[in-house]
Amino acid sequence: CGIVGYAGARPALGIVLDGLRRLEYRGYDSAGVAIICADELLAEKKAGKLANLEKVLSERSARDPEACAASPIGIGDGVTGIGHTRWATHGGPTDRNAHPHLSPDGRVAVIHNGIIENFAKLRAELEADGVQFVSDTDTECTAHLLAAALTDLRSAGHPDGPQLLAAGMRVVCQRLEGAFTLLAVDADVPGAVVGARRNSPLVVGRGDGENYLASDVAAFIEHTREAIELGQDQIVLITADSIEITDFAGQPATGKDFHIDWDS
Ligand code: GLU
Repeated sequence: CGIVGYAGARPALGIVLDGLRRLEYRGYDSAGVAIICADELLAEKKAGKLANLEKVLSERSARDPEACAASPIGIGDGVTGIGHTRWATHGGPTDRNAHPHLSPDGRVAVIHNGIIENFAKLRAELEADGVQFVSDTDTECTAHLLAAALTDLRSAGHPDGPQLLAAGMRVVCQRLEGAFTLLAVDADVPGAVVGARRNSPLVVGRGDGENYLASDVAAFIEHTREAIELGQDQIVLITADSIEITDFAGQPATGKDFHIDWDS
């Protein structure tokens, strides 16, 4: 339902949670975040209001004060992150069905708005390959597909780095039918967030030494008013100081630049 991504130099968690709060008006049944701290991916998700998620985050910080000393909310001081508020379509509004959905090794995290129409077929295929699903969502297959695509690209010699994440997302999108805004991060590609969209909105917020992705400009309007609306079937890769847009085949593409001039 609500989607936020951040790549920059400031602690991502507070920015992502603030963004989700700005999108609360849309309604949701659960919430979650994934933050890249150094080379680790820290994820938490919880059914119910954002306050429930924040409680889990502070309990985590109490359990592990040293790892989390740099952040008052307690998930380290990672500067790359994604956050989601869910409006369930497939699978009840439970903790395990909340987003993000992770790869089995916990290194890759995906959040999703919309519906993957061909999820049952993709899930059956992945299960036949031995993948174990831990949720009832249509979304989880995208995390497994992305992890597999990244592994394949790496073993084919694709160098690590942000471009790898974009290449992996392109492979995934070519398999998907339906409506989706997807964001993903990989602990082995710190500093980058990749997004993709088909039949579901995604906007980029262009900051100074930081960039944003969101389902709605309301999520980042307090930080920047320079935005880019992505076109249909486009992939966007953000880092602290770059924004790169391609189509699903990898050809360079452009979104629509605009300035947000309404009052927040
Ligand atoms: N279809 C996905 C789910 O049920 C995403 C729902 C949404 O847009 O929040 O988990």
